[in-house]
Amino acid sequence: MKIPTGQTRPLYEPGELIVKLKRDSAVLEETLCEKYGVSLIERFELGNRPVTDTGELVRLKLPRELAVEEAVQLLSKDAQVEYAEPNNRYYLDSLQGPNDSTAPNDLNYKLWGLHNTGQTRGTPGADISMKEAWKITKGDRAGGPIVAVIDSGVDVSHPDLLANLWVNPGEIPNDGVDNDGNGVVDDVHGYNAFHDNNDLFDGKVHGTHVAGTVGAVGNNGQGITGVAQEARIMTVKIFANTGHTNEATVLRGLAYADKMGARITTNSWGGIHSKAMEEAYSRSPALHIASAGNSGRDNDVQPHFPGSYPIDNMIAVAASDHRDEIGSFSCYGDHTVHLAAPGVDIYSTLPRGRYKSFSGTSMACPHVGGAASLILSEYPYASNEEVKNRILYGTDPLPKQSGLTVSGGRLNAASSLENDLSPPGTPGSFRAEVNPSEVRLAWTNSGDDGEVGQARALLLKKSEHPLNEKNFASATSLGRVLPGRAGDNQLFTDPLSWSDTARTFYYGLQAIDNVGNRSELTTLQVTVTPS
Ligand code: CA
Ligand code: CA
Repeated sequence: MKIPTGQTRPLYEPGELIVKLKRDSAVLEETLCEKYGVSLIERFELGNRPVTDTGELVRLKLPRELAVEEAVQLLSKDAQVEYAEPNNRYYLDSLQGPNDSTAPNDLNYKLWGLHNTGQTRGTPGADISMKEAWKITKGDRAGGPIVAVIDSGVDVSHPDLLANLWVNPGEIPNDGVDNDGNGVVDDVHGYNAFHDNNDLFDGKVHGTHVAGTVGAVGNNGQGITGVAQEARIMTVKIFANTGHTNEATVLRGLAYADKMGARITTNSWGGIHSKAMEEAYSRSPALHIASAGNSGRDNDVQPHFPGSYPIDNMIAVAASDHRDEIGSFSCYGDHTVHLAAPGVDIYSTLPRGRYKSFSGTSMACPHVGGAASLILSEYPYASNEEVKNRILYGTDPLPKQSGLTVSGGRLNAASSLENDLSPPGTPGSFRAEVNPSEVRLAWTNSGDDGEVGQARALLLKKSEHPLNEKNFASATSLGRVLPGRAGDNQLFTDPLSWSDTARTFYYGLQAIDNVGNRSELTTLQVTVTPS
């Protein structure tokens, strides 16, 4: 498979700048425009309301003689400017999969990511457990969360998508009028942010494929089912039919999704850092799912945005295959990529009623988007943090993915959907053996529900100050520890640097289950004396 290099593609739009003004900056026209010869192209909204608590975010046209790099330097130094950056370009995160037009049209055979019995010569069970998940919920077409597919558009006439498309309740189709007054005429199923109109045509076929994985209509006797059999998919087209977009378009598209009530977004694309985009995503009330990228790199070293923004409402997804291996093209990151989901040879919808298999982290992202949609259908009042915890702690821990993602596991929708009201019991007999070079910690494991089963994760942290439930969150983590079964004894060695004075350390331990329920904190004080 060919991996896009990004080397020959433009990094940003020529002749433009995105600028955030300081809060108290004077009227734009009187300052920047006069000083630098720039002119205003547009103003952006952040989150689901106009920017009032900070300065304005604007797109500016540069005079011909001012190069973009030069303008960034110049305006960044201006006392009225908080930051200035190019209108960066972003590209899709998909790879064309093998052409399988000769493969039998057997759906159970192809949708290994949803239910894997080894039918594609993969590992049985290397799937996201949809048969079990659908026993809990199939989604909610009427009142479920709106999932904005921020992508290349969607074929809104696809018979396997149509019933699961979001419909703008305030818009009368095809009357040429902006009935709901949101600035877009006849935006029935979504918005074209690239051309600022209602044309959702998917020129790259990418968004239609992503939408099908999130929520192709299930149980309708044709094609495929999405992760969510029932869904409300909003199309936010940000890509030109040539396959690129830019920061300004992303900002417009995200503002539309926020304004129209999207609860989840999928972002199967990426590129370089942008402060304006980070601000827009972090202020958005939605939970954002993003692809980790397809360059096979470590995102901890070379991040890929928007997925790598260190914000609470973002989940970055790596691609795994039918043997639970991380795809060779997939980016990963112990601290910056949250989990893996199926993303190799994924069969889904294409425009004009067709279907095809593609590979890419682009295909992994919508598996998580569909799972988030199901979680919010079943638990409509769950916060972004609760949904994210369900998704991360619900993963199946896999030794071969350990250290490659935050959770070290692959999405398991059934586990993430469990109505589990029983937090783990508190780990028992927390104790230590101490010598000048290390602290050997030991405890007896609790379970998933009280003292039964197996918790999903142990948080083990250290501080130089006594630990309590409040300050535990900010204490230094000693790394992620997988718990054994209830009643098992477990050990952890904390190596110490040399010291010639006596030291006191405080350790804290907490067990977490597959939906994010936490045990009570158990703590330990240790004094280390020099030899
Ligand atoms: Ca409208
Ligand atoms: Ca179907």
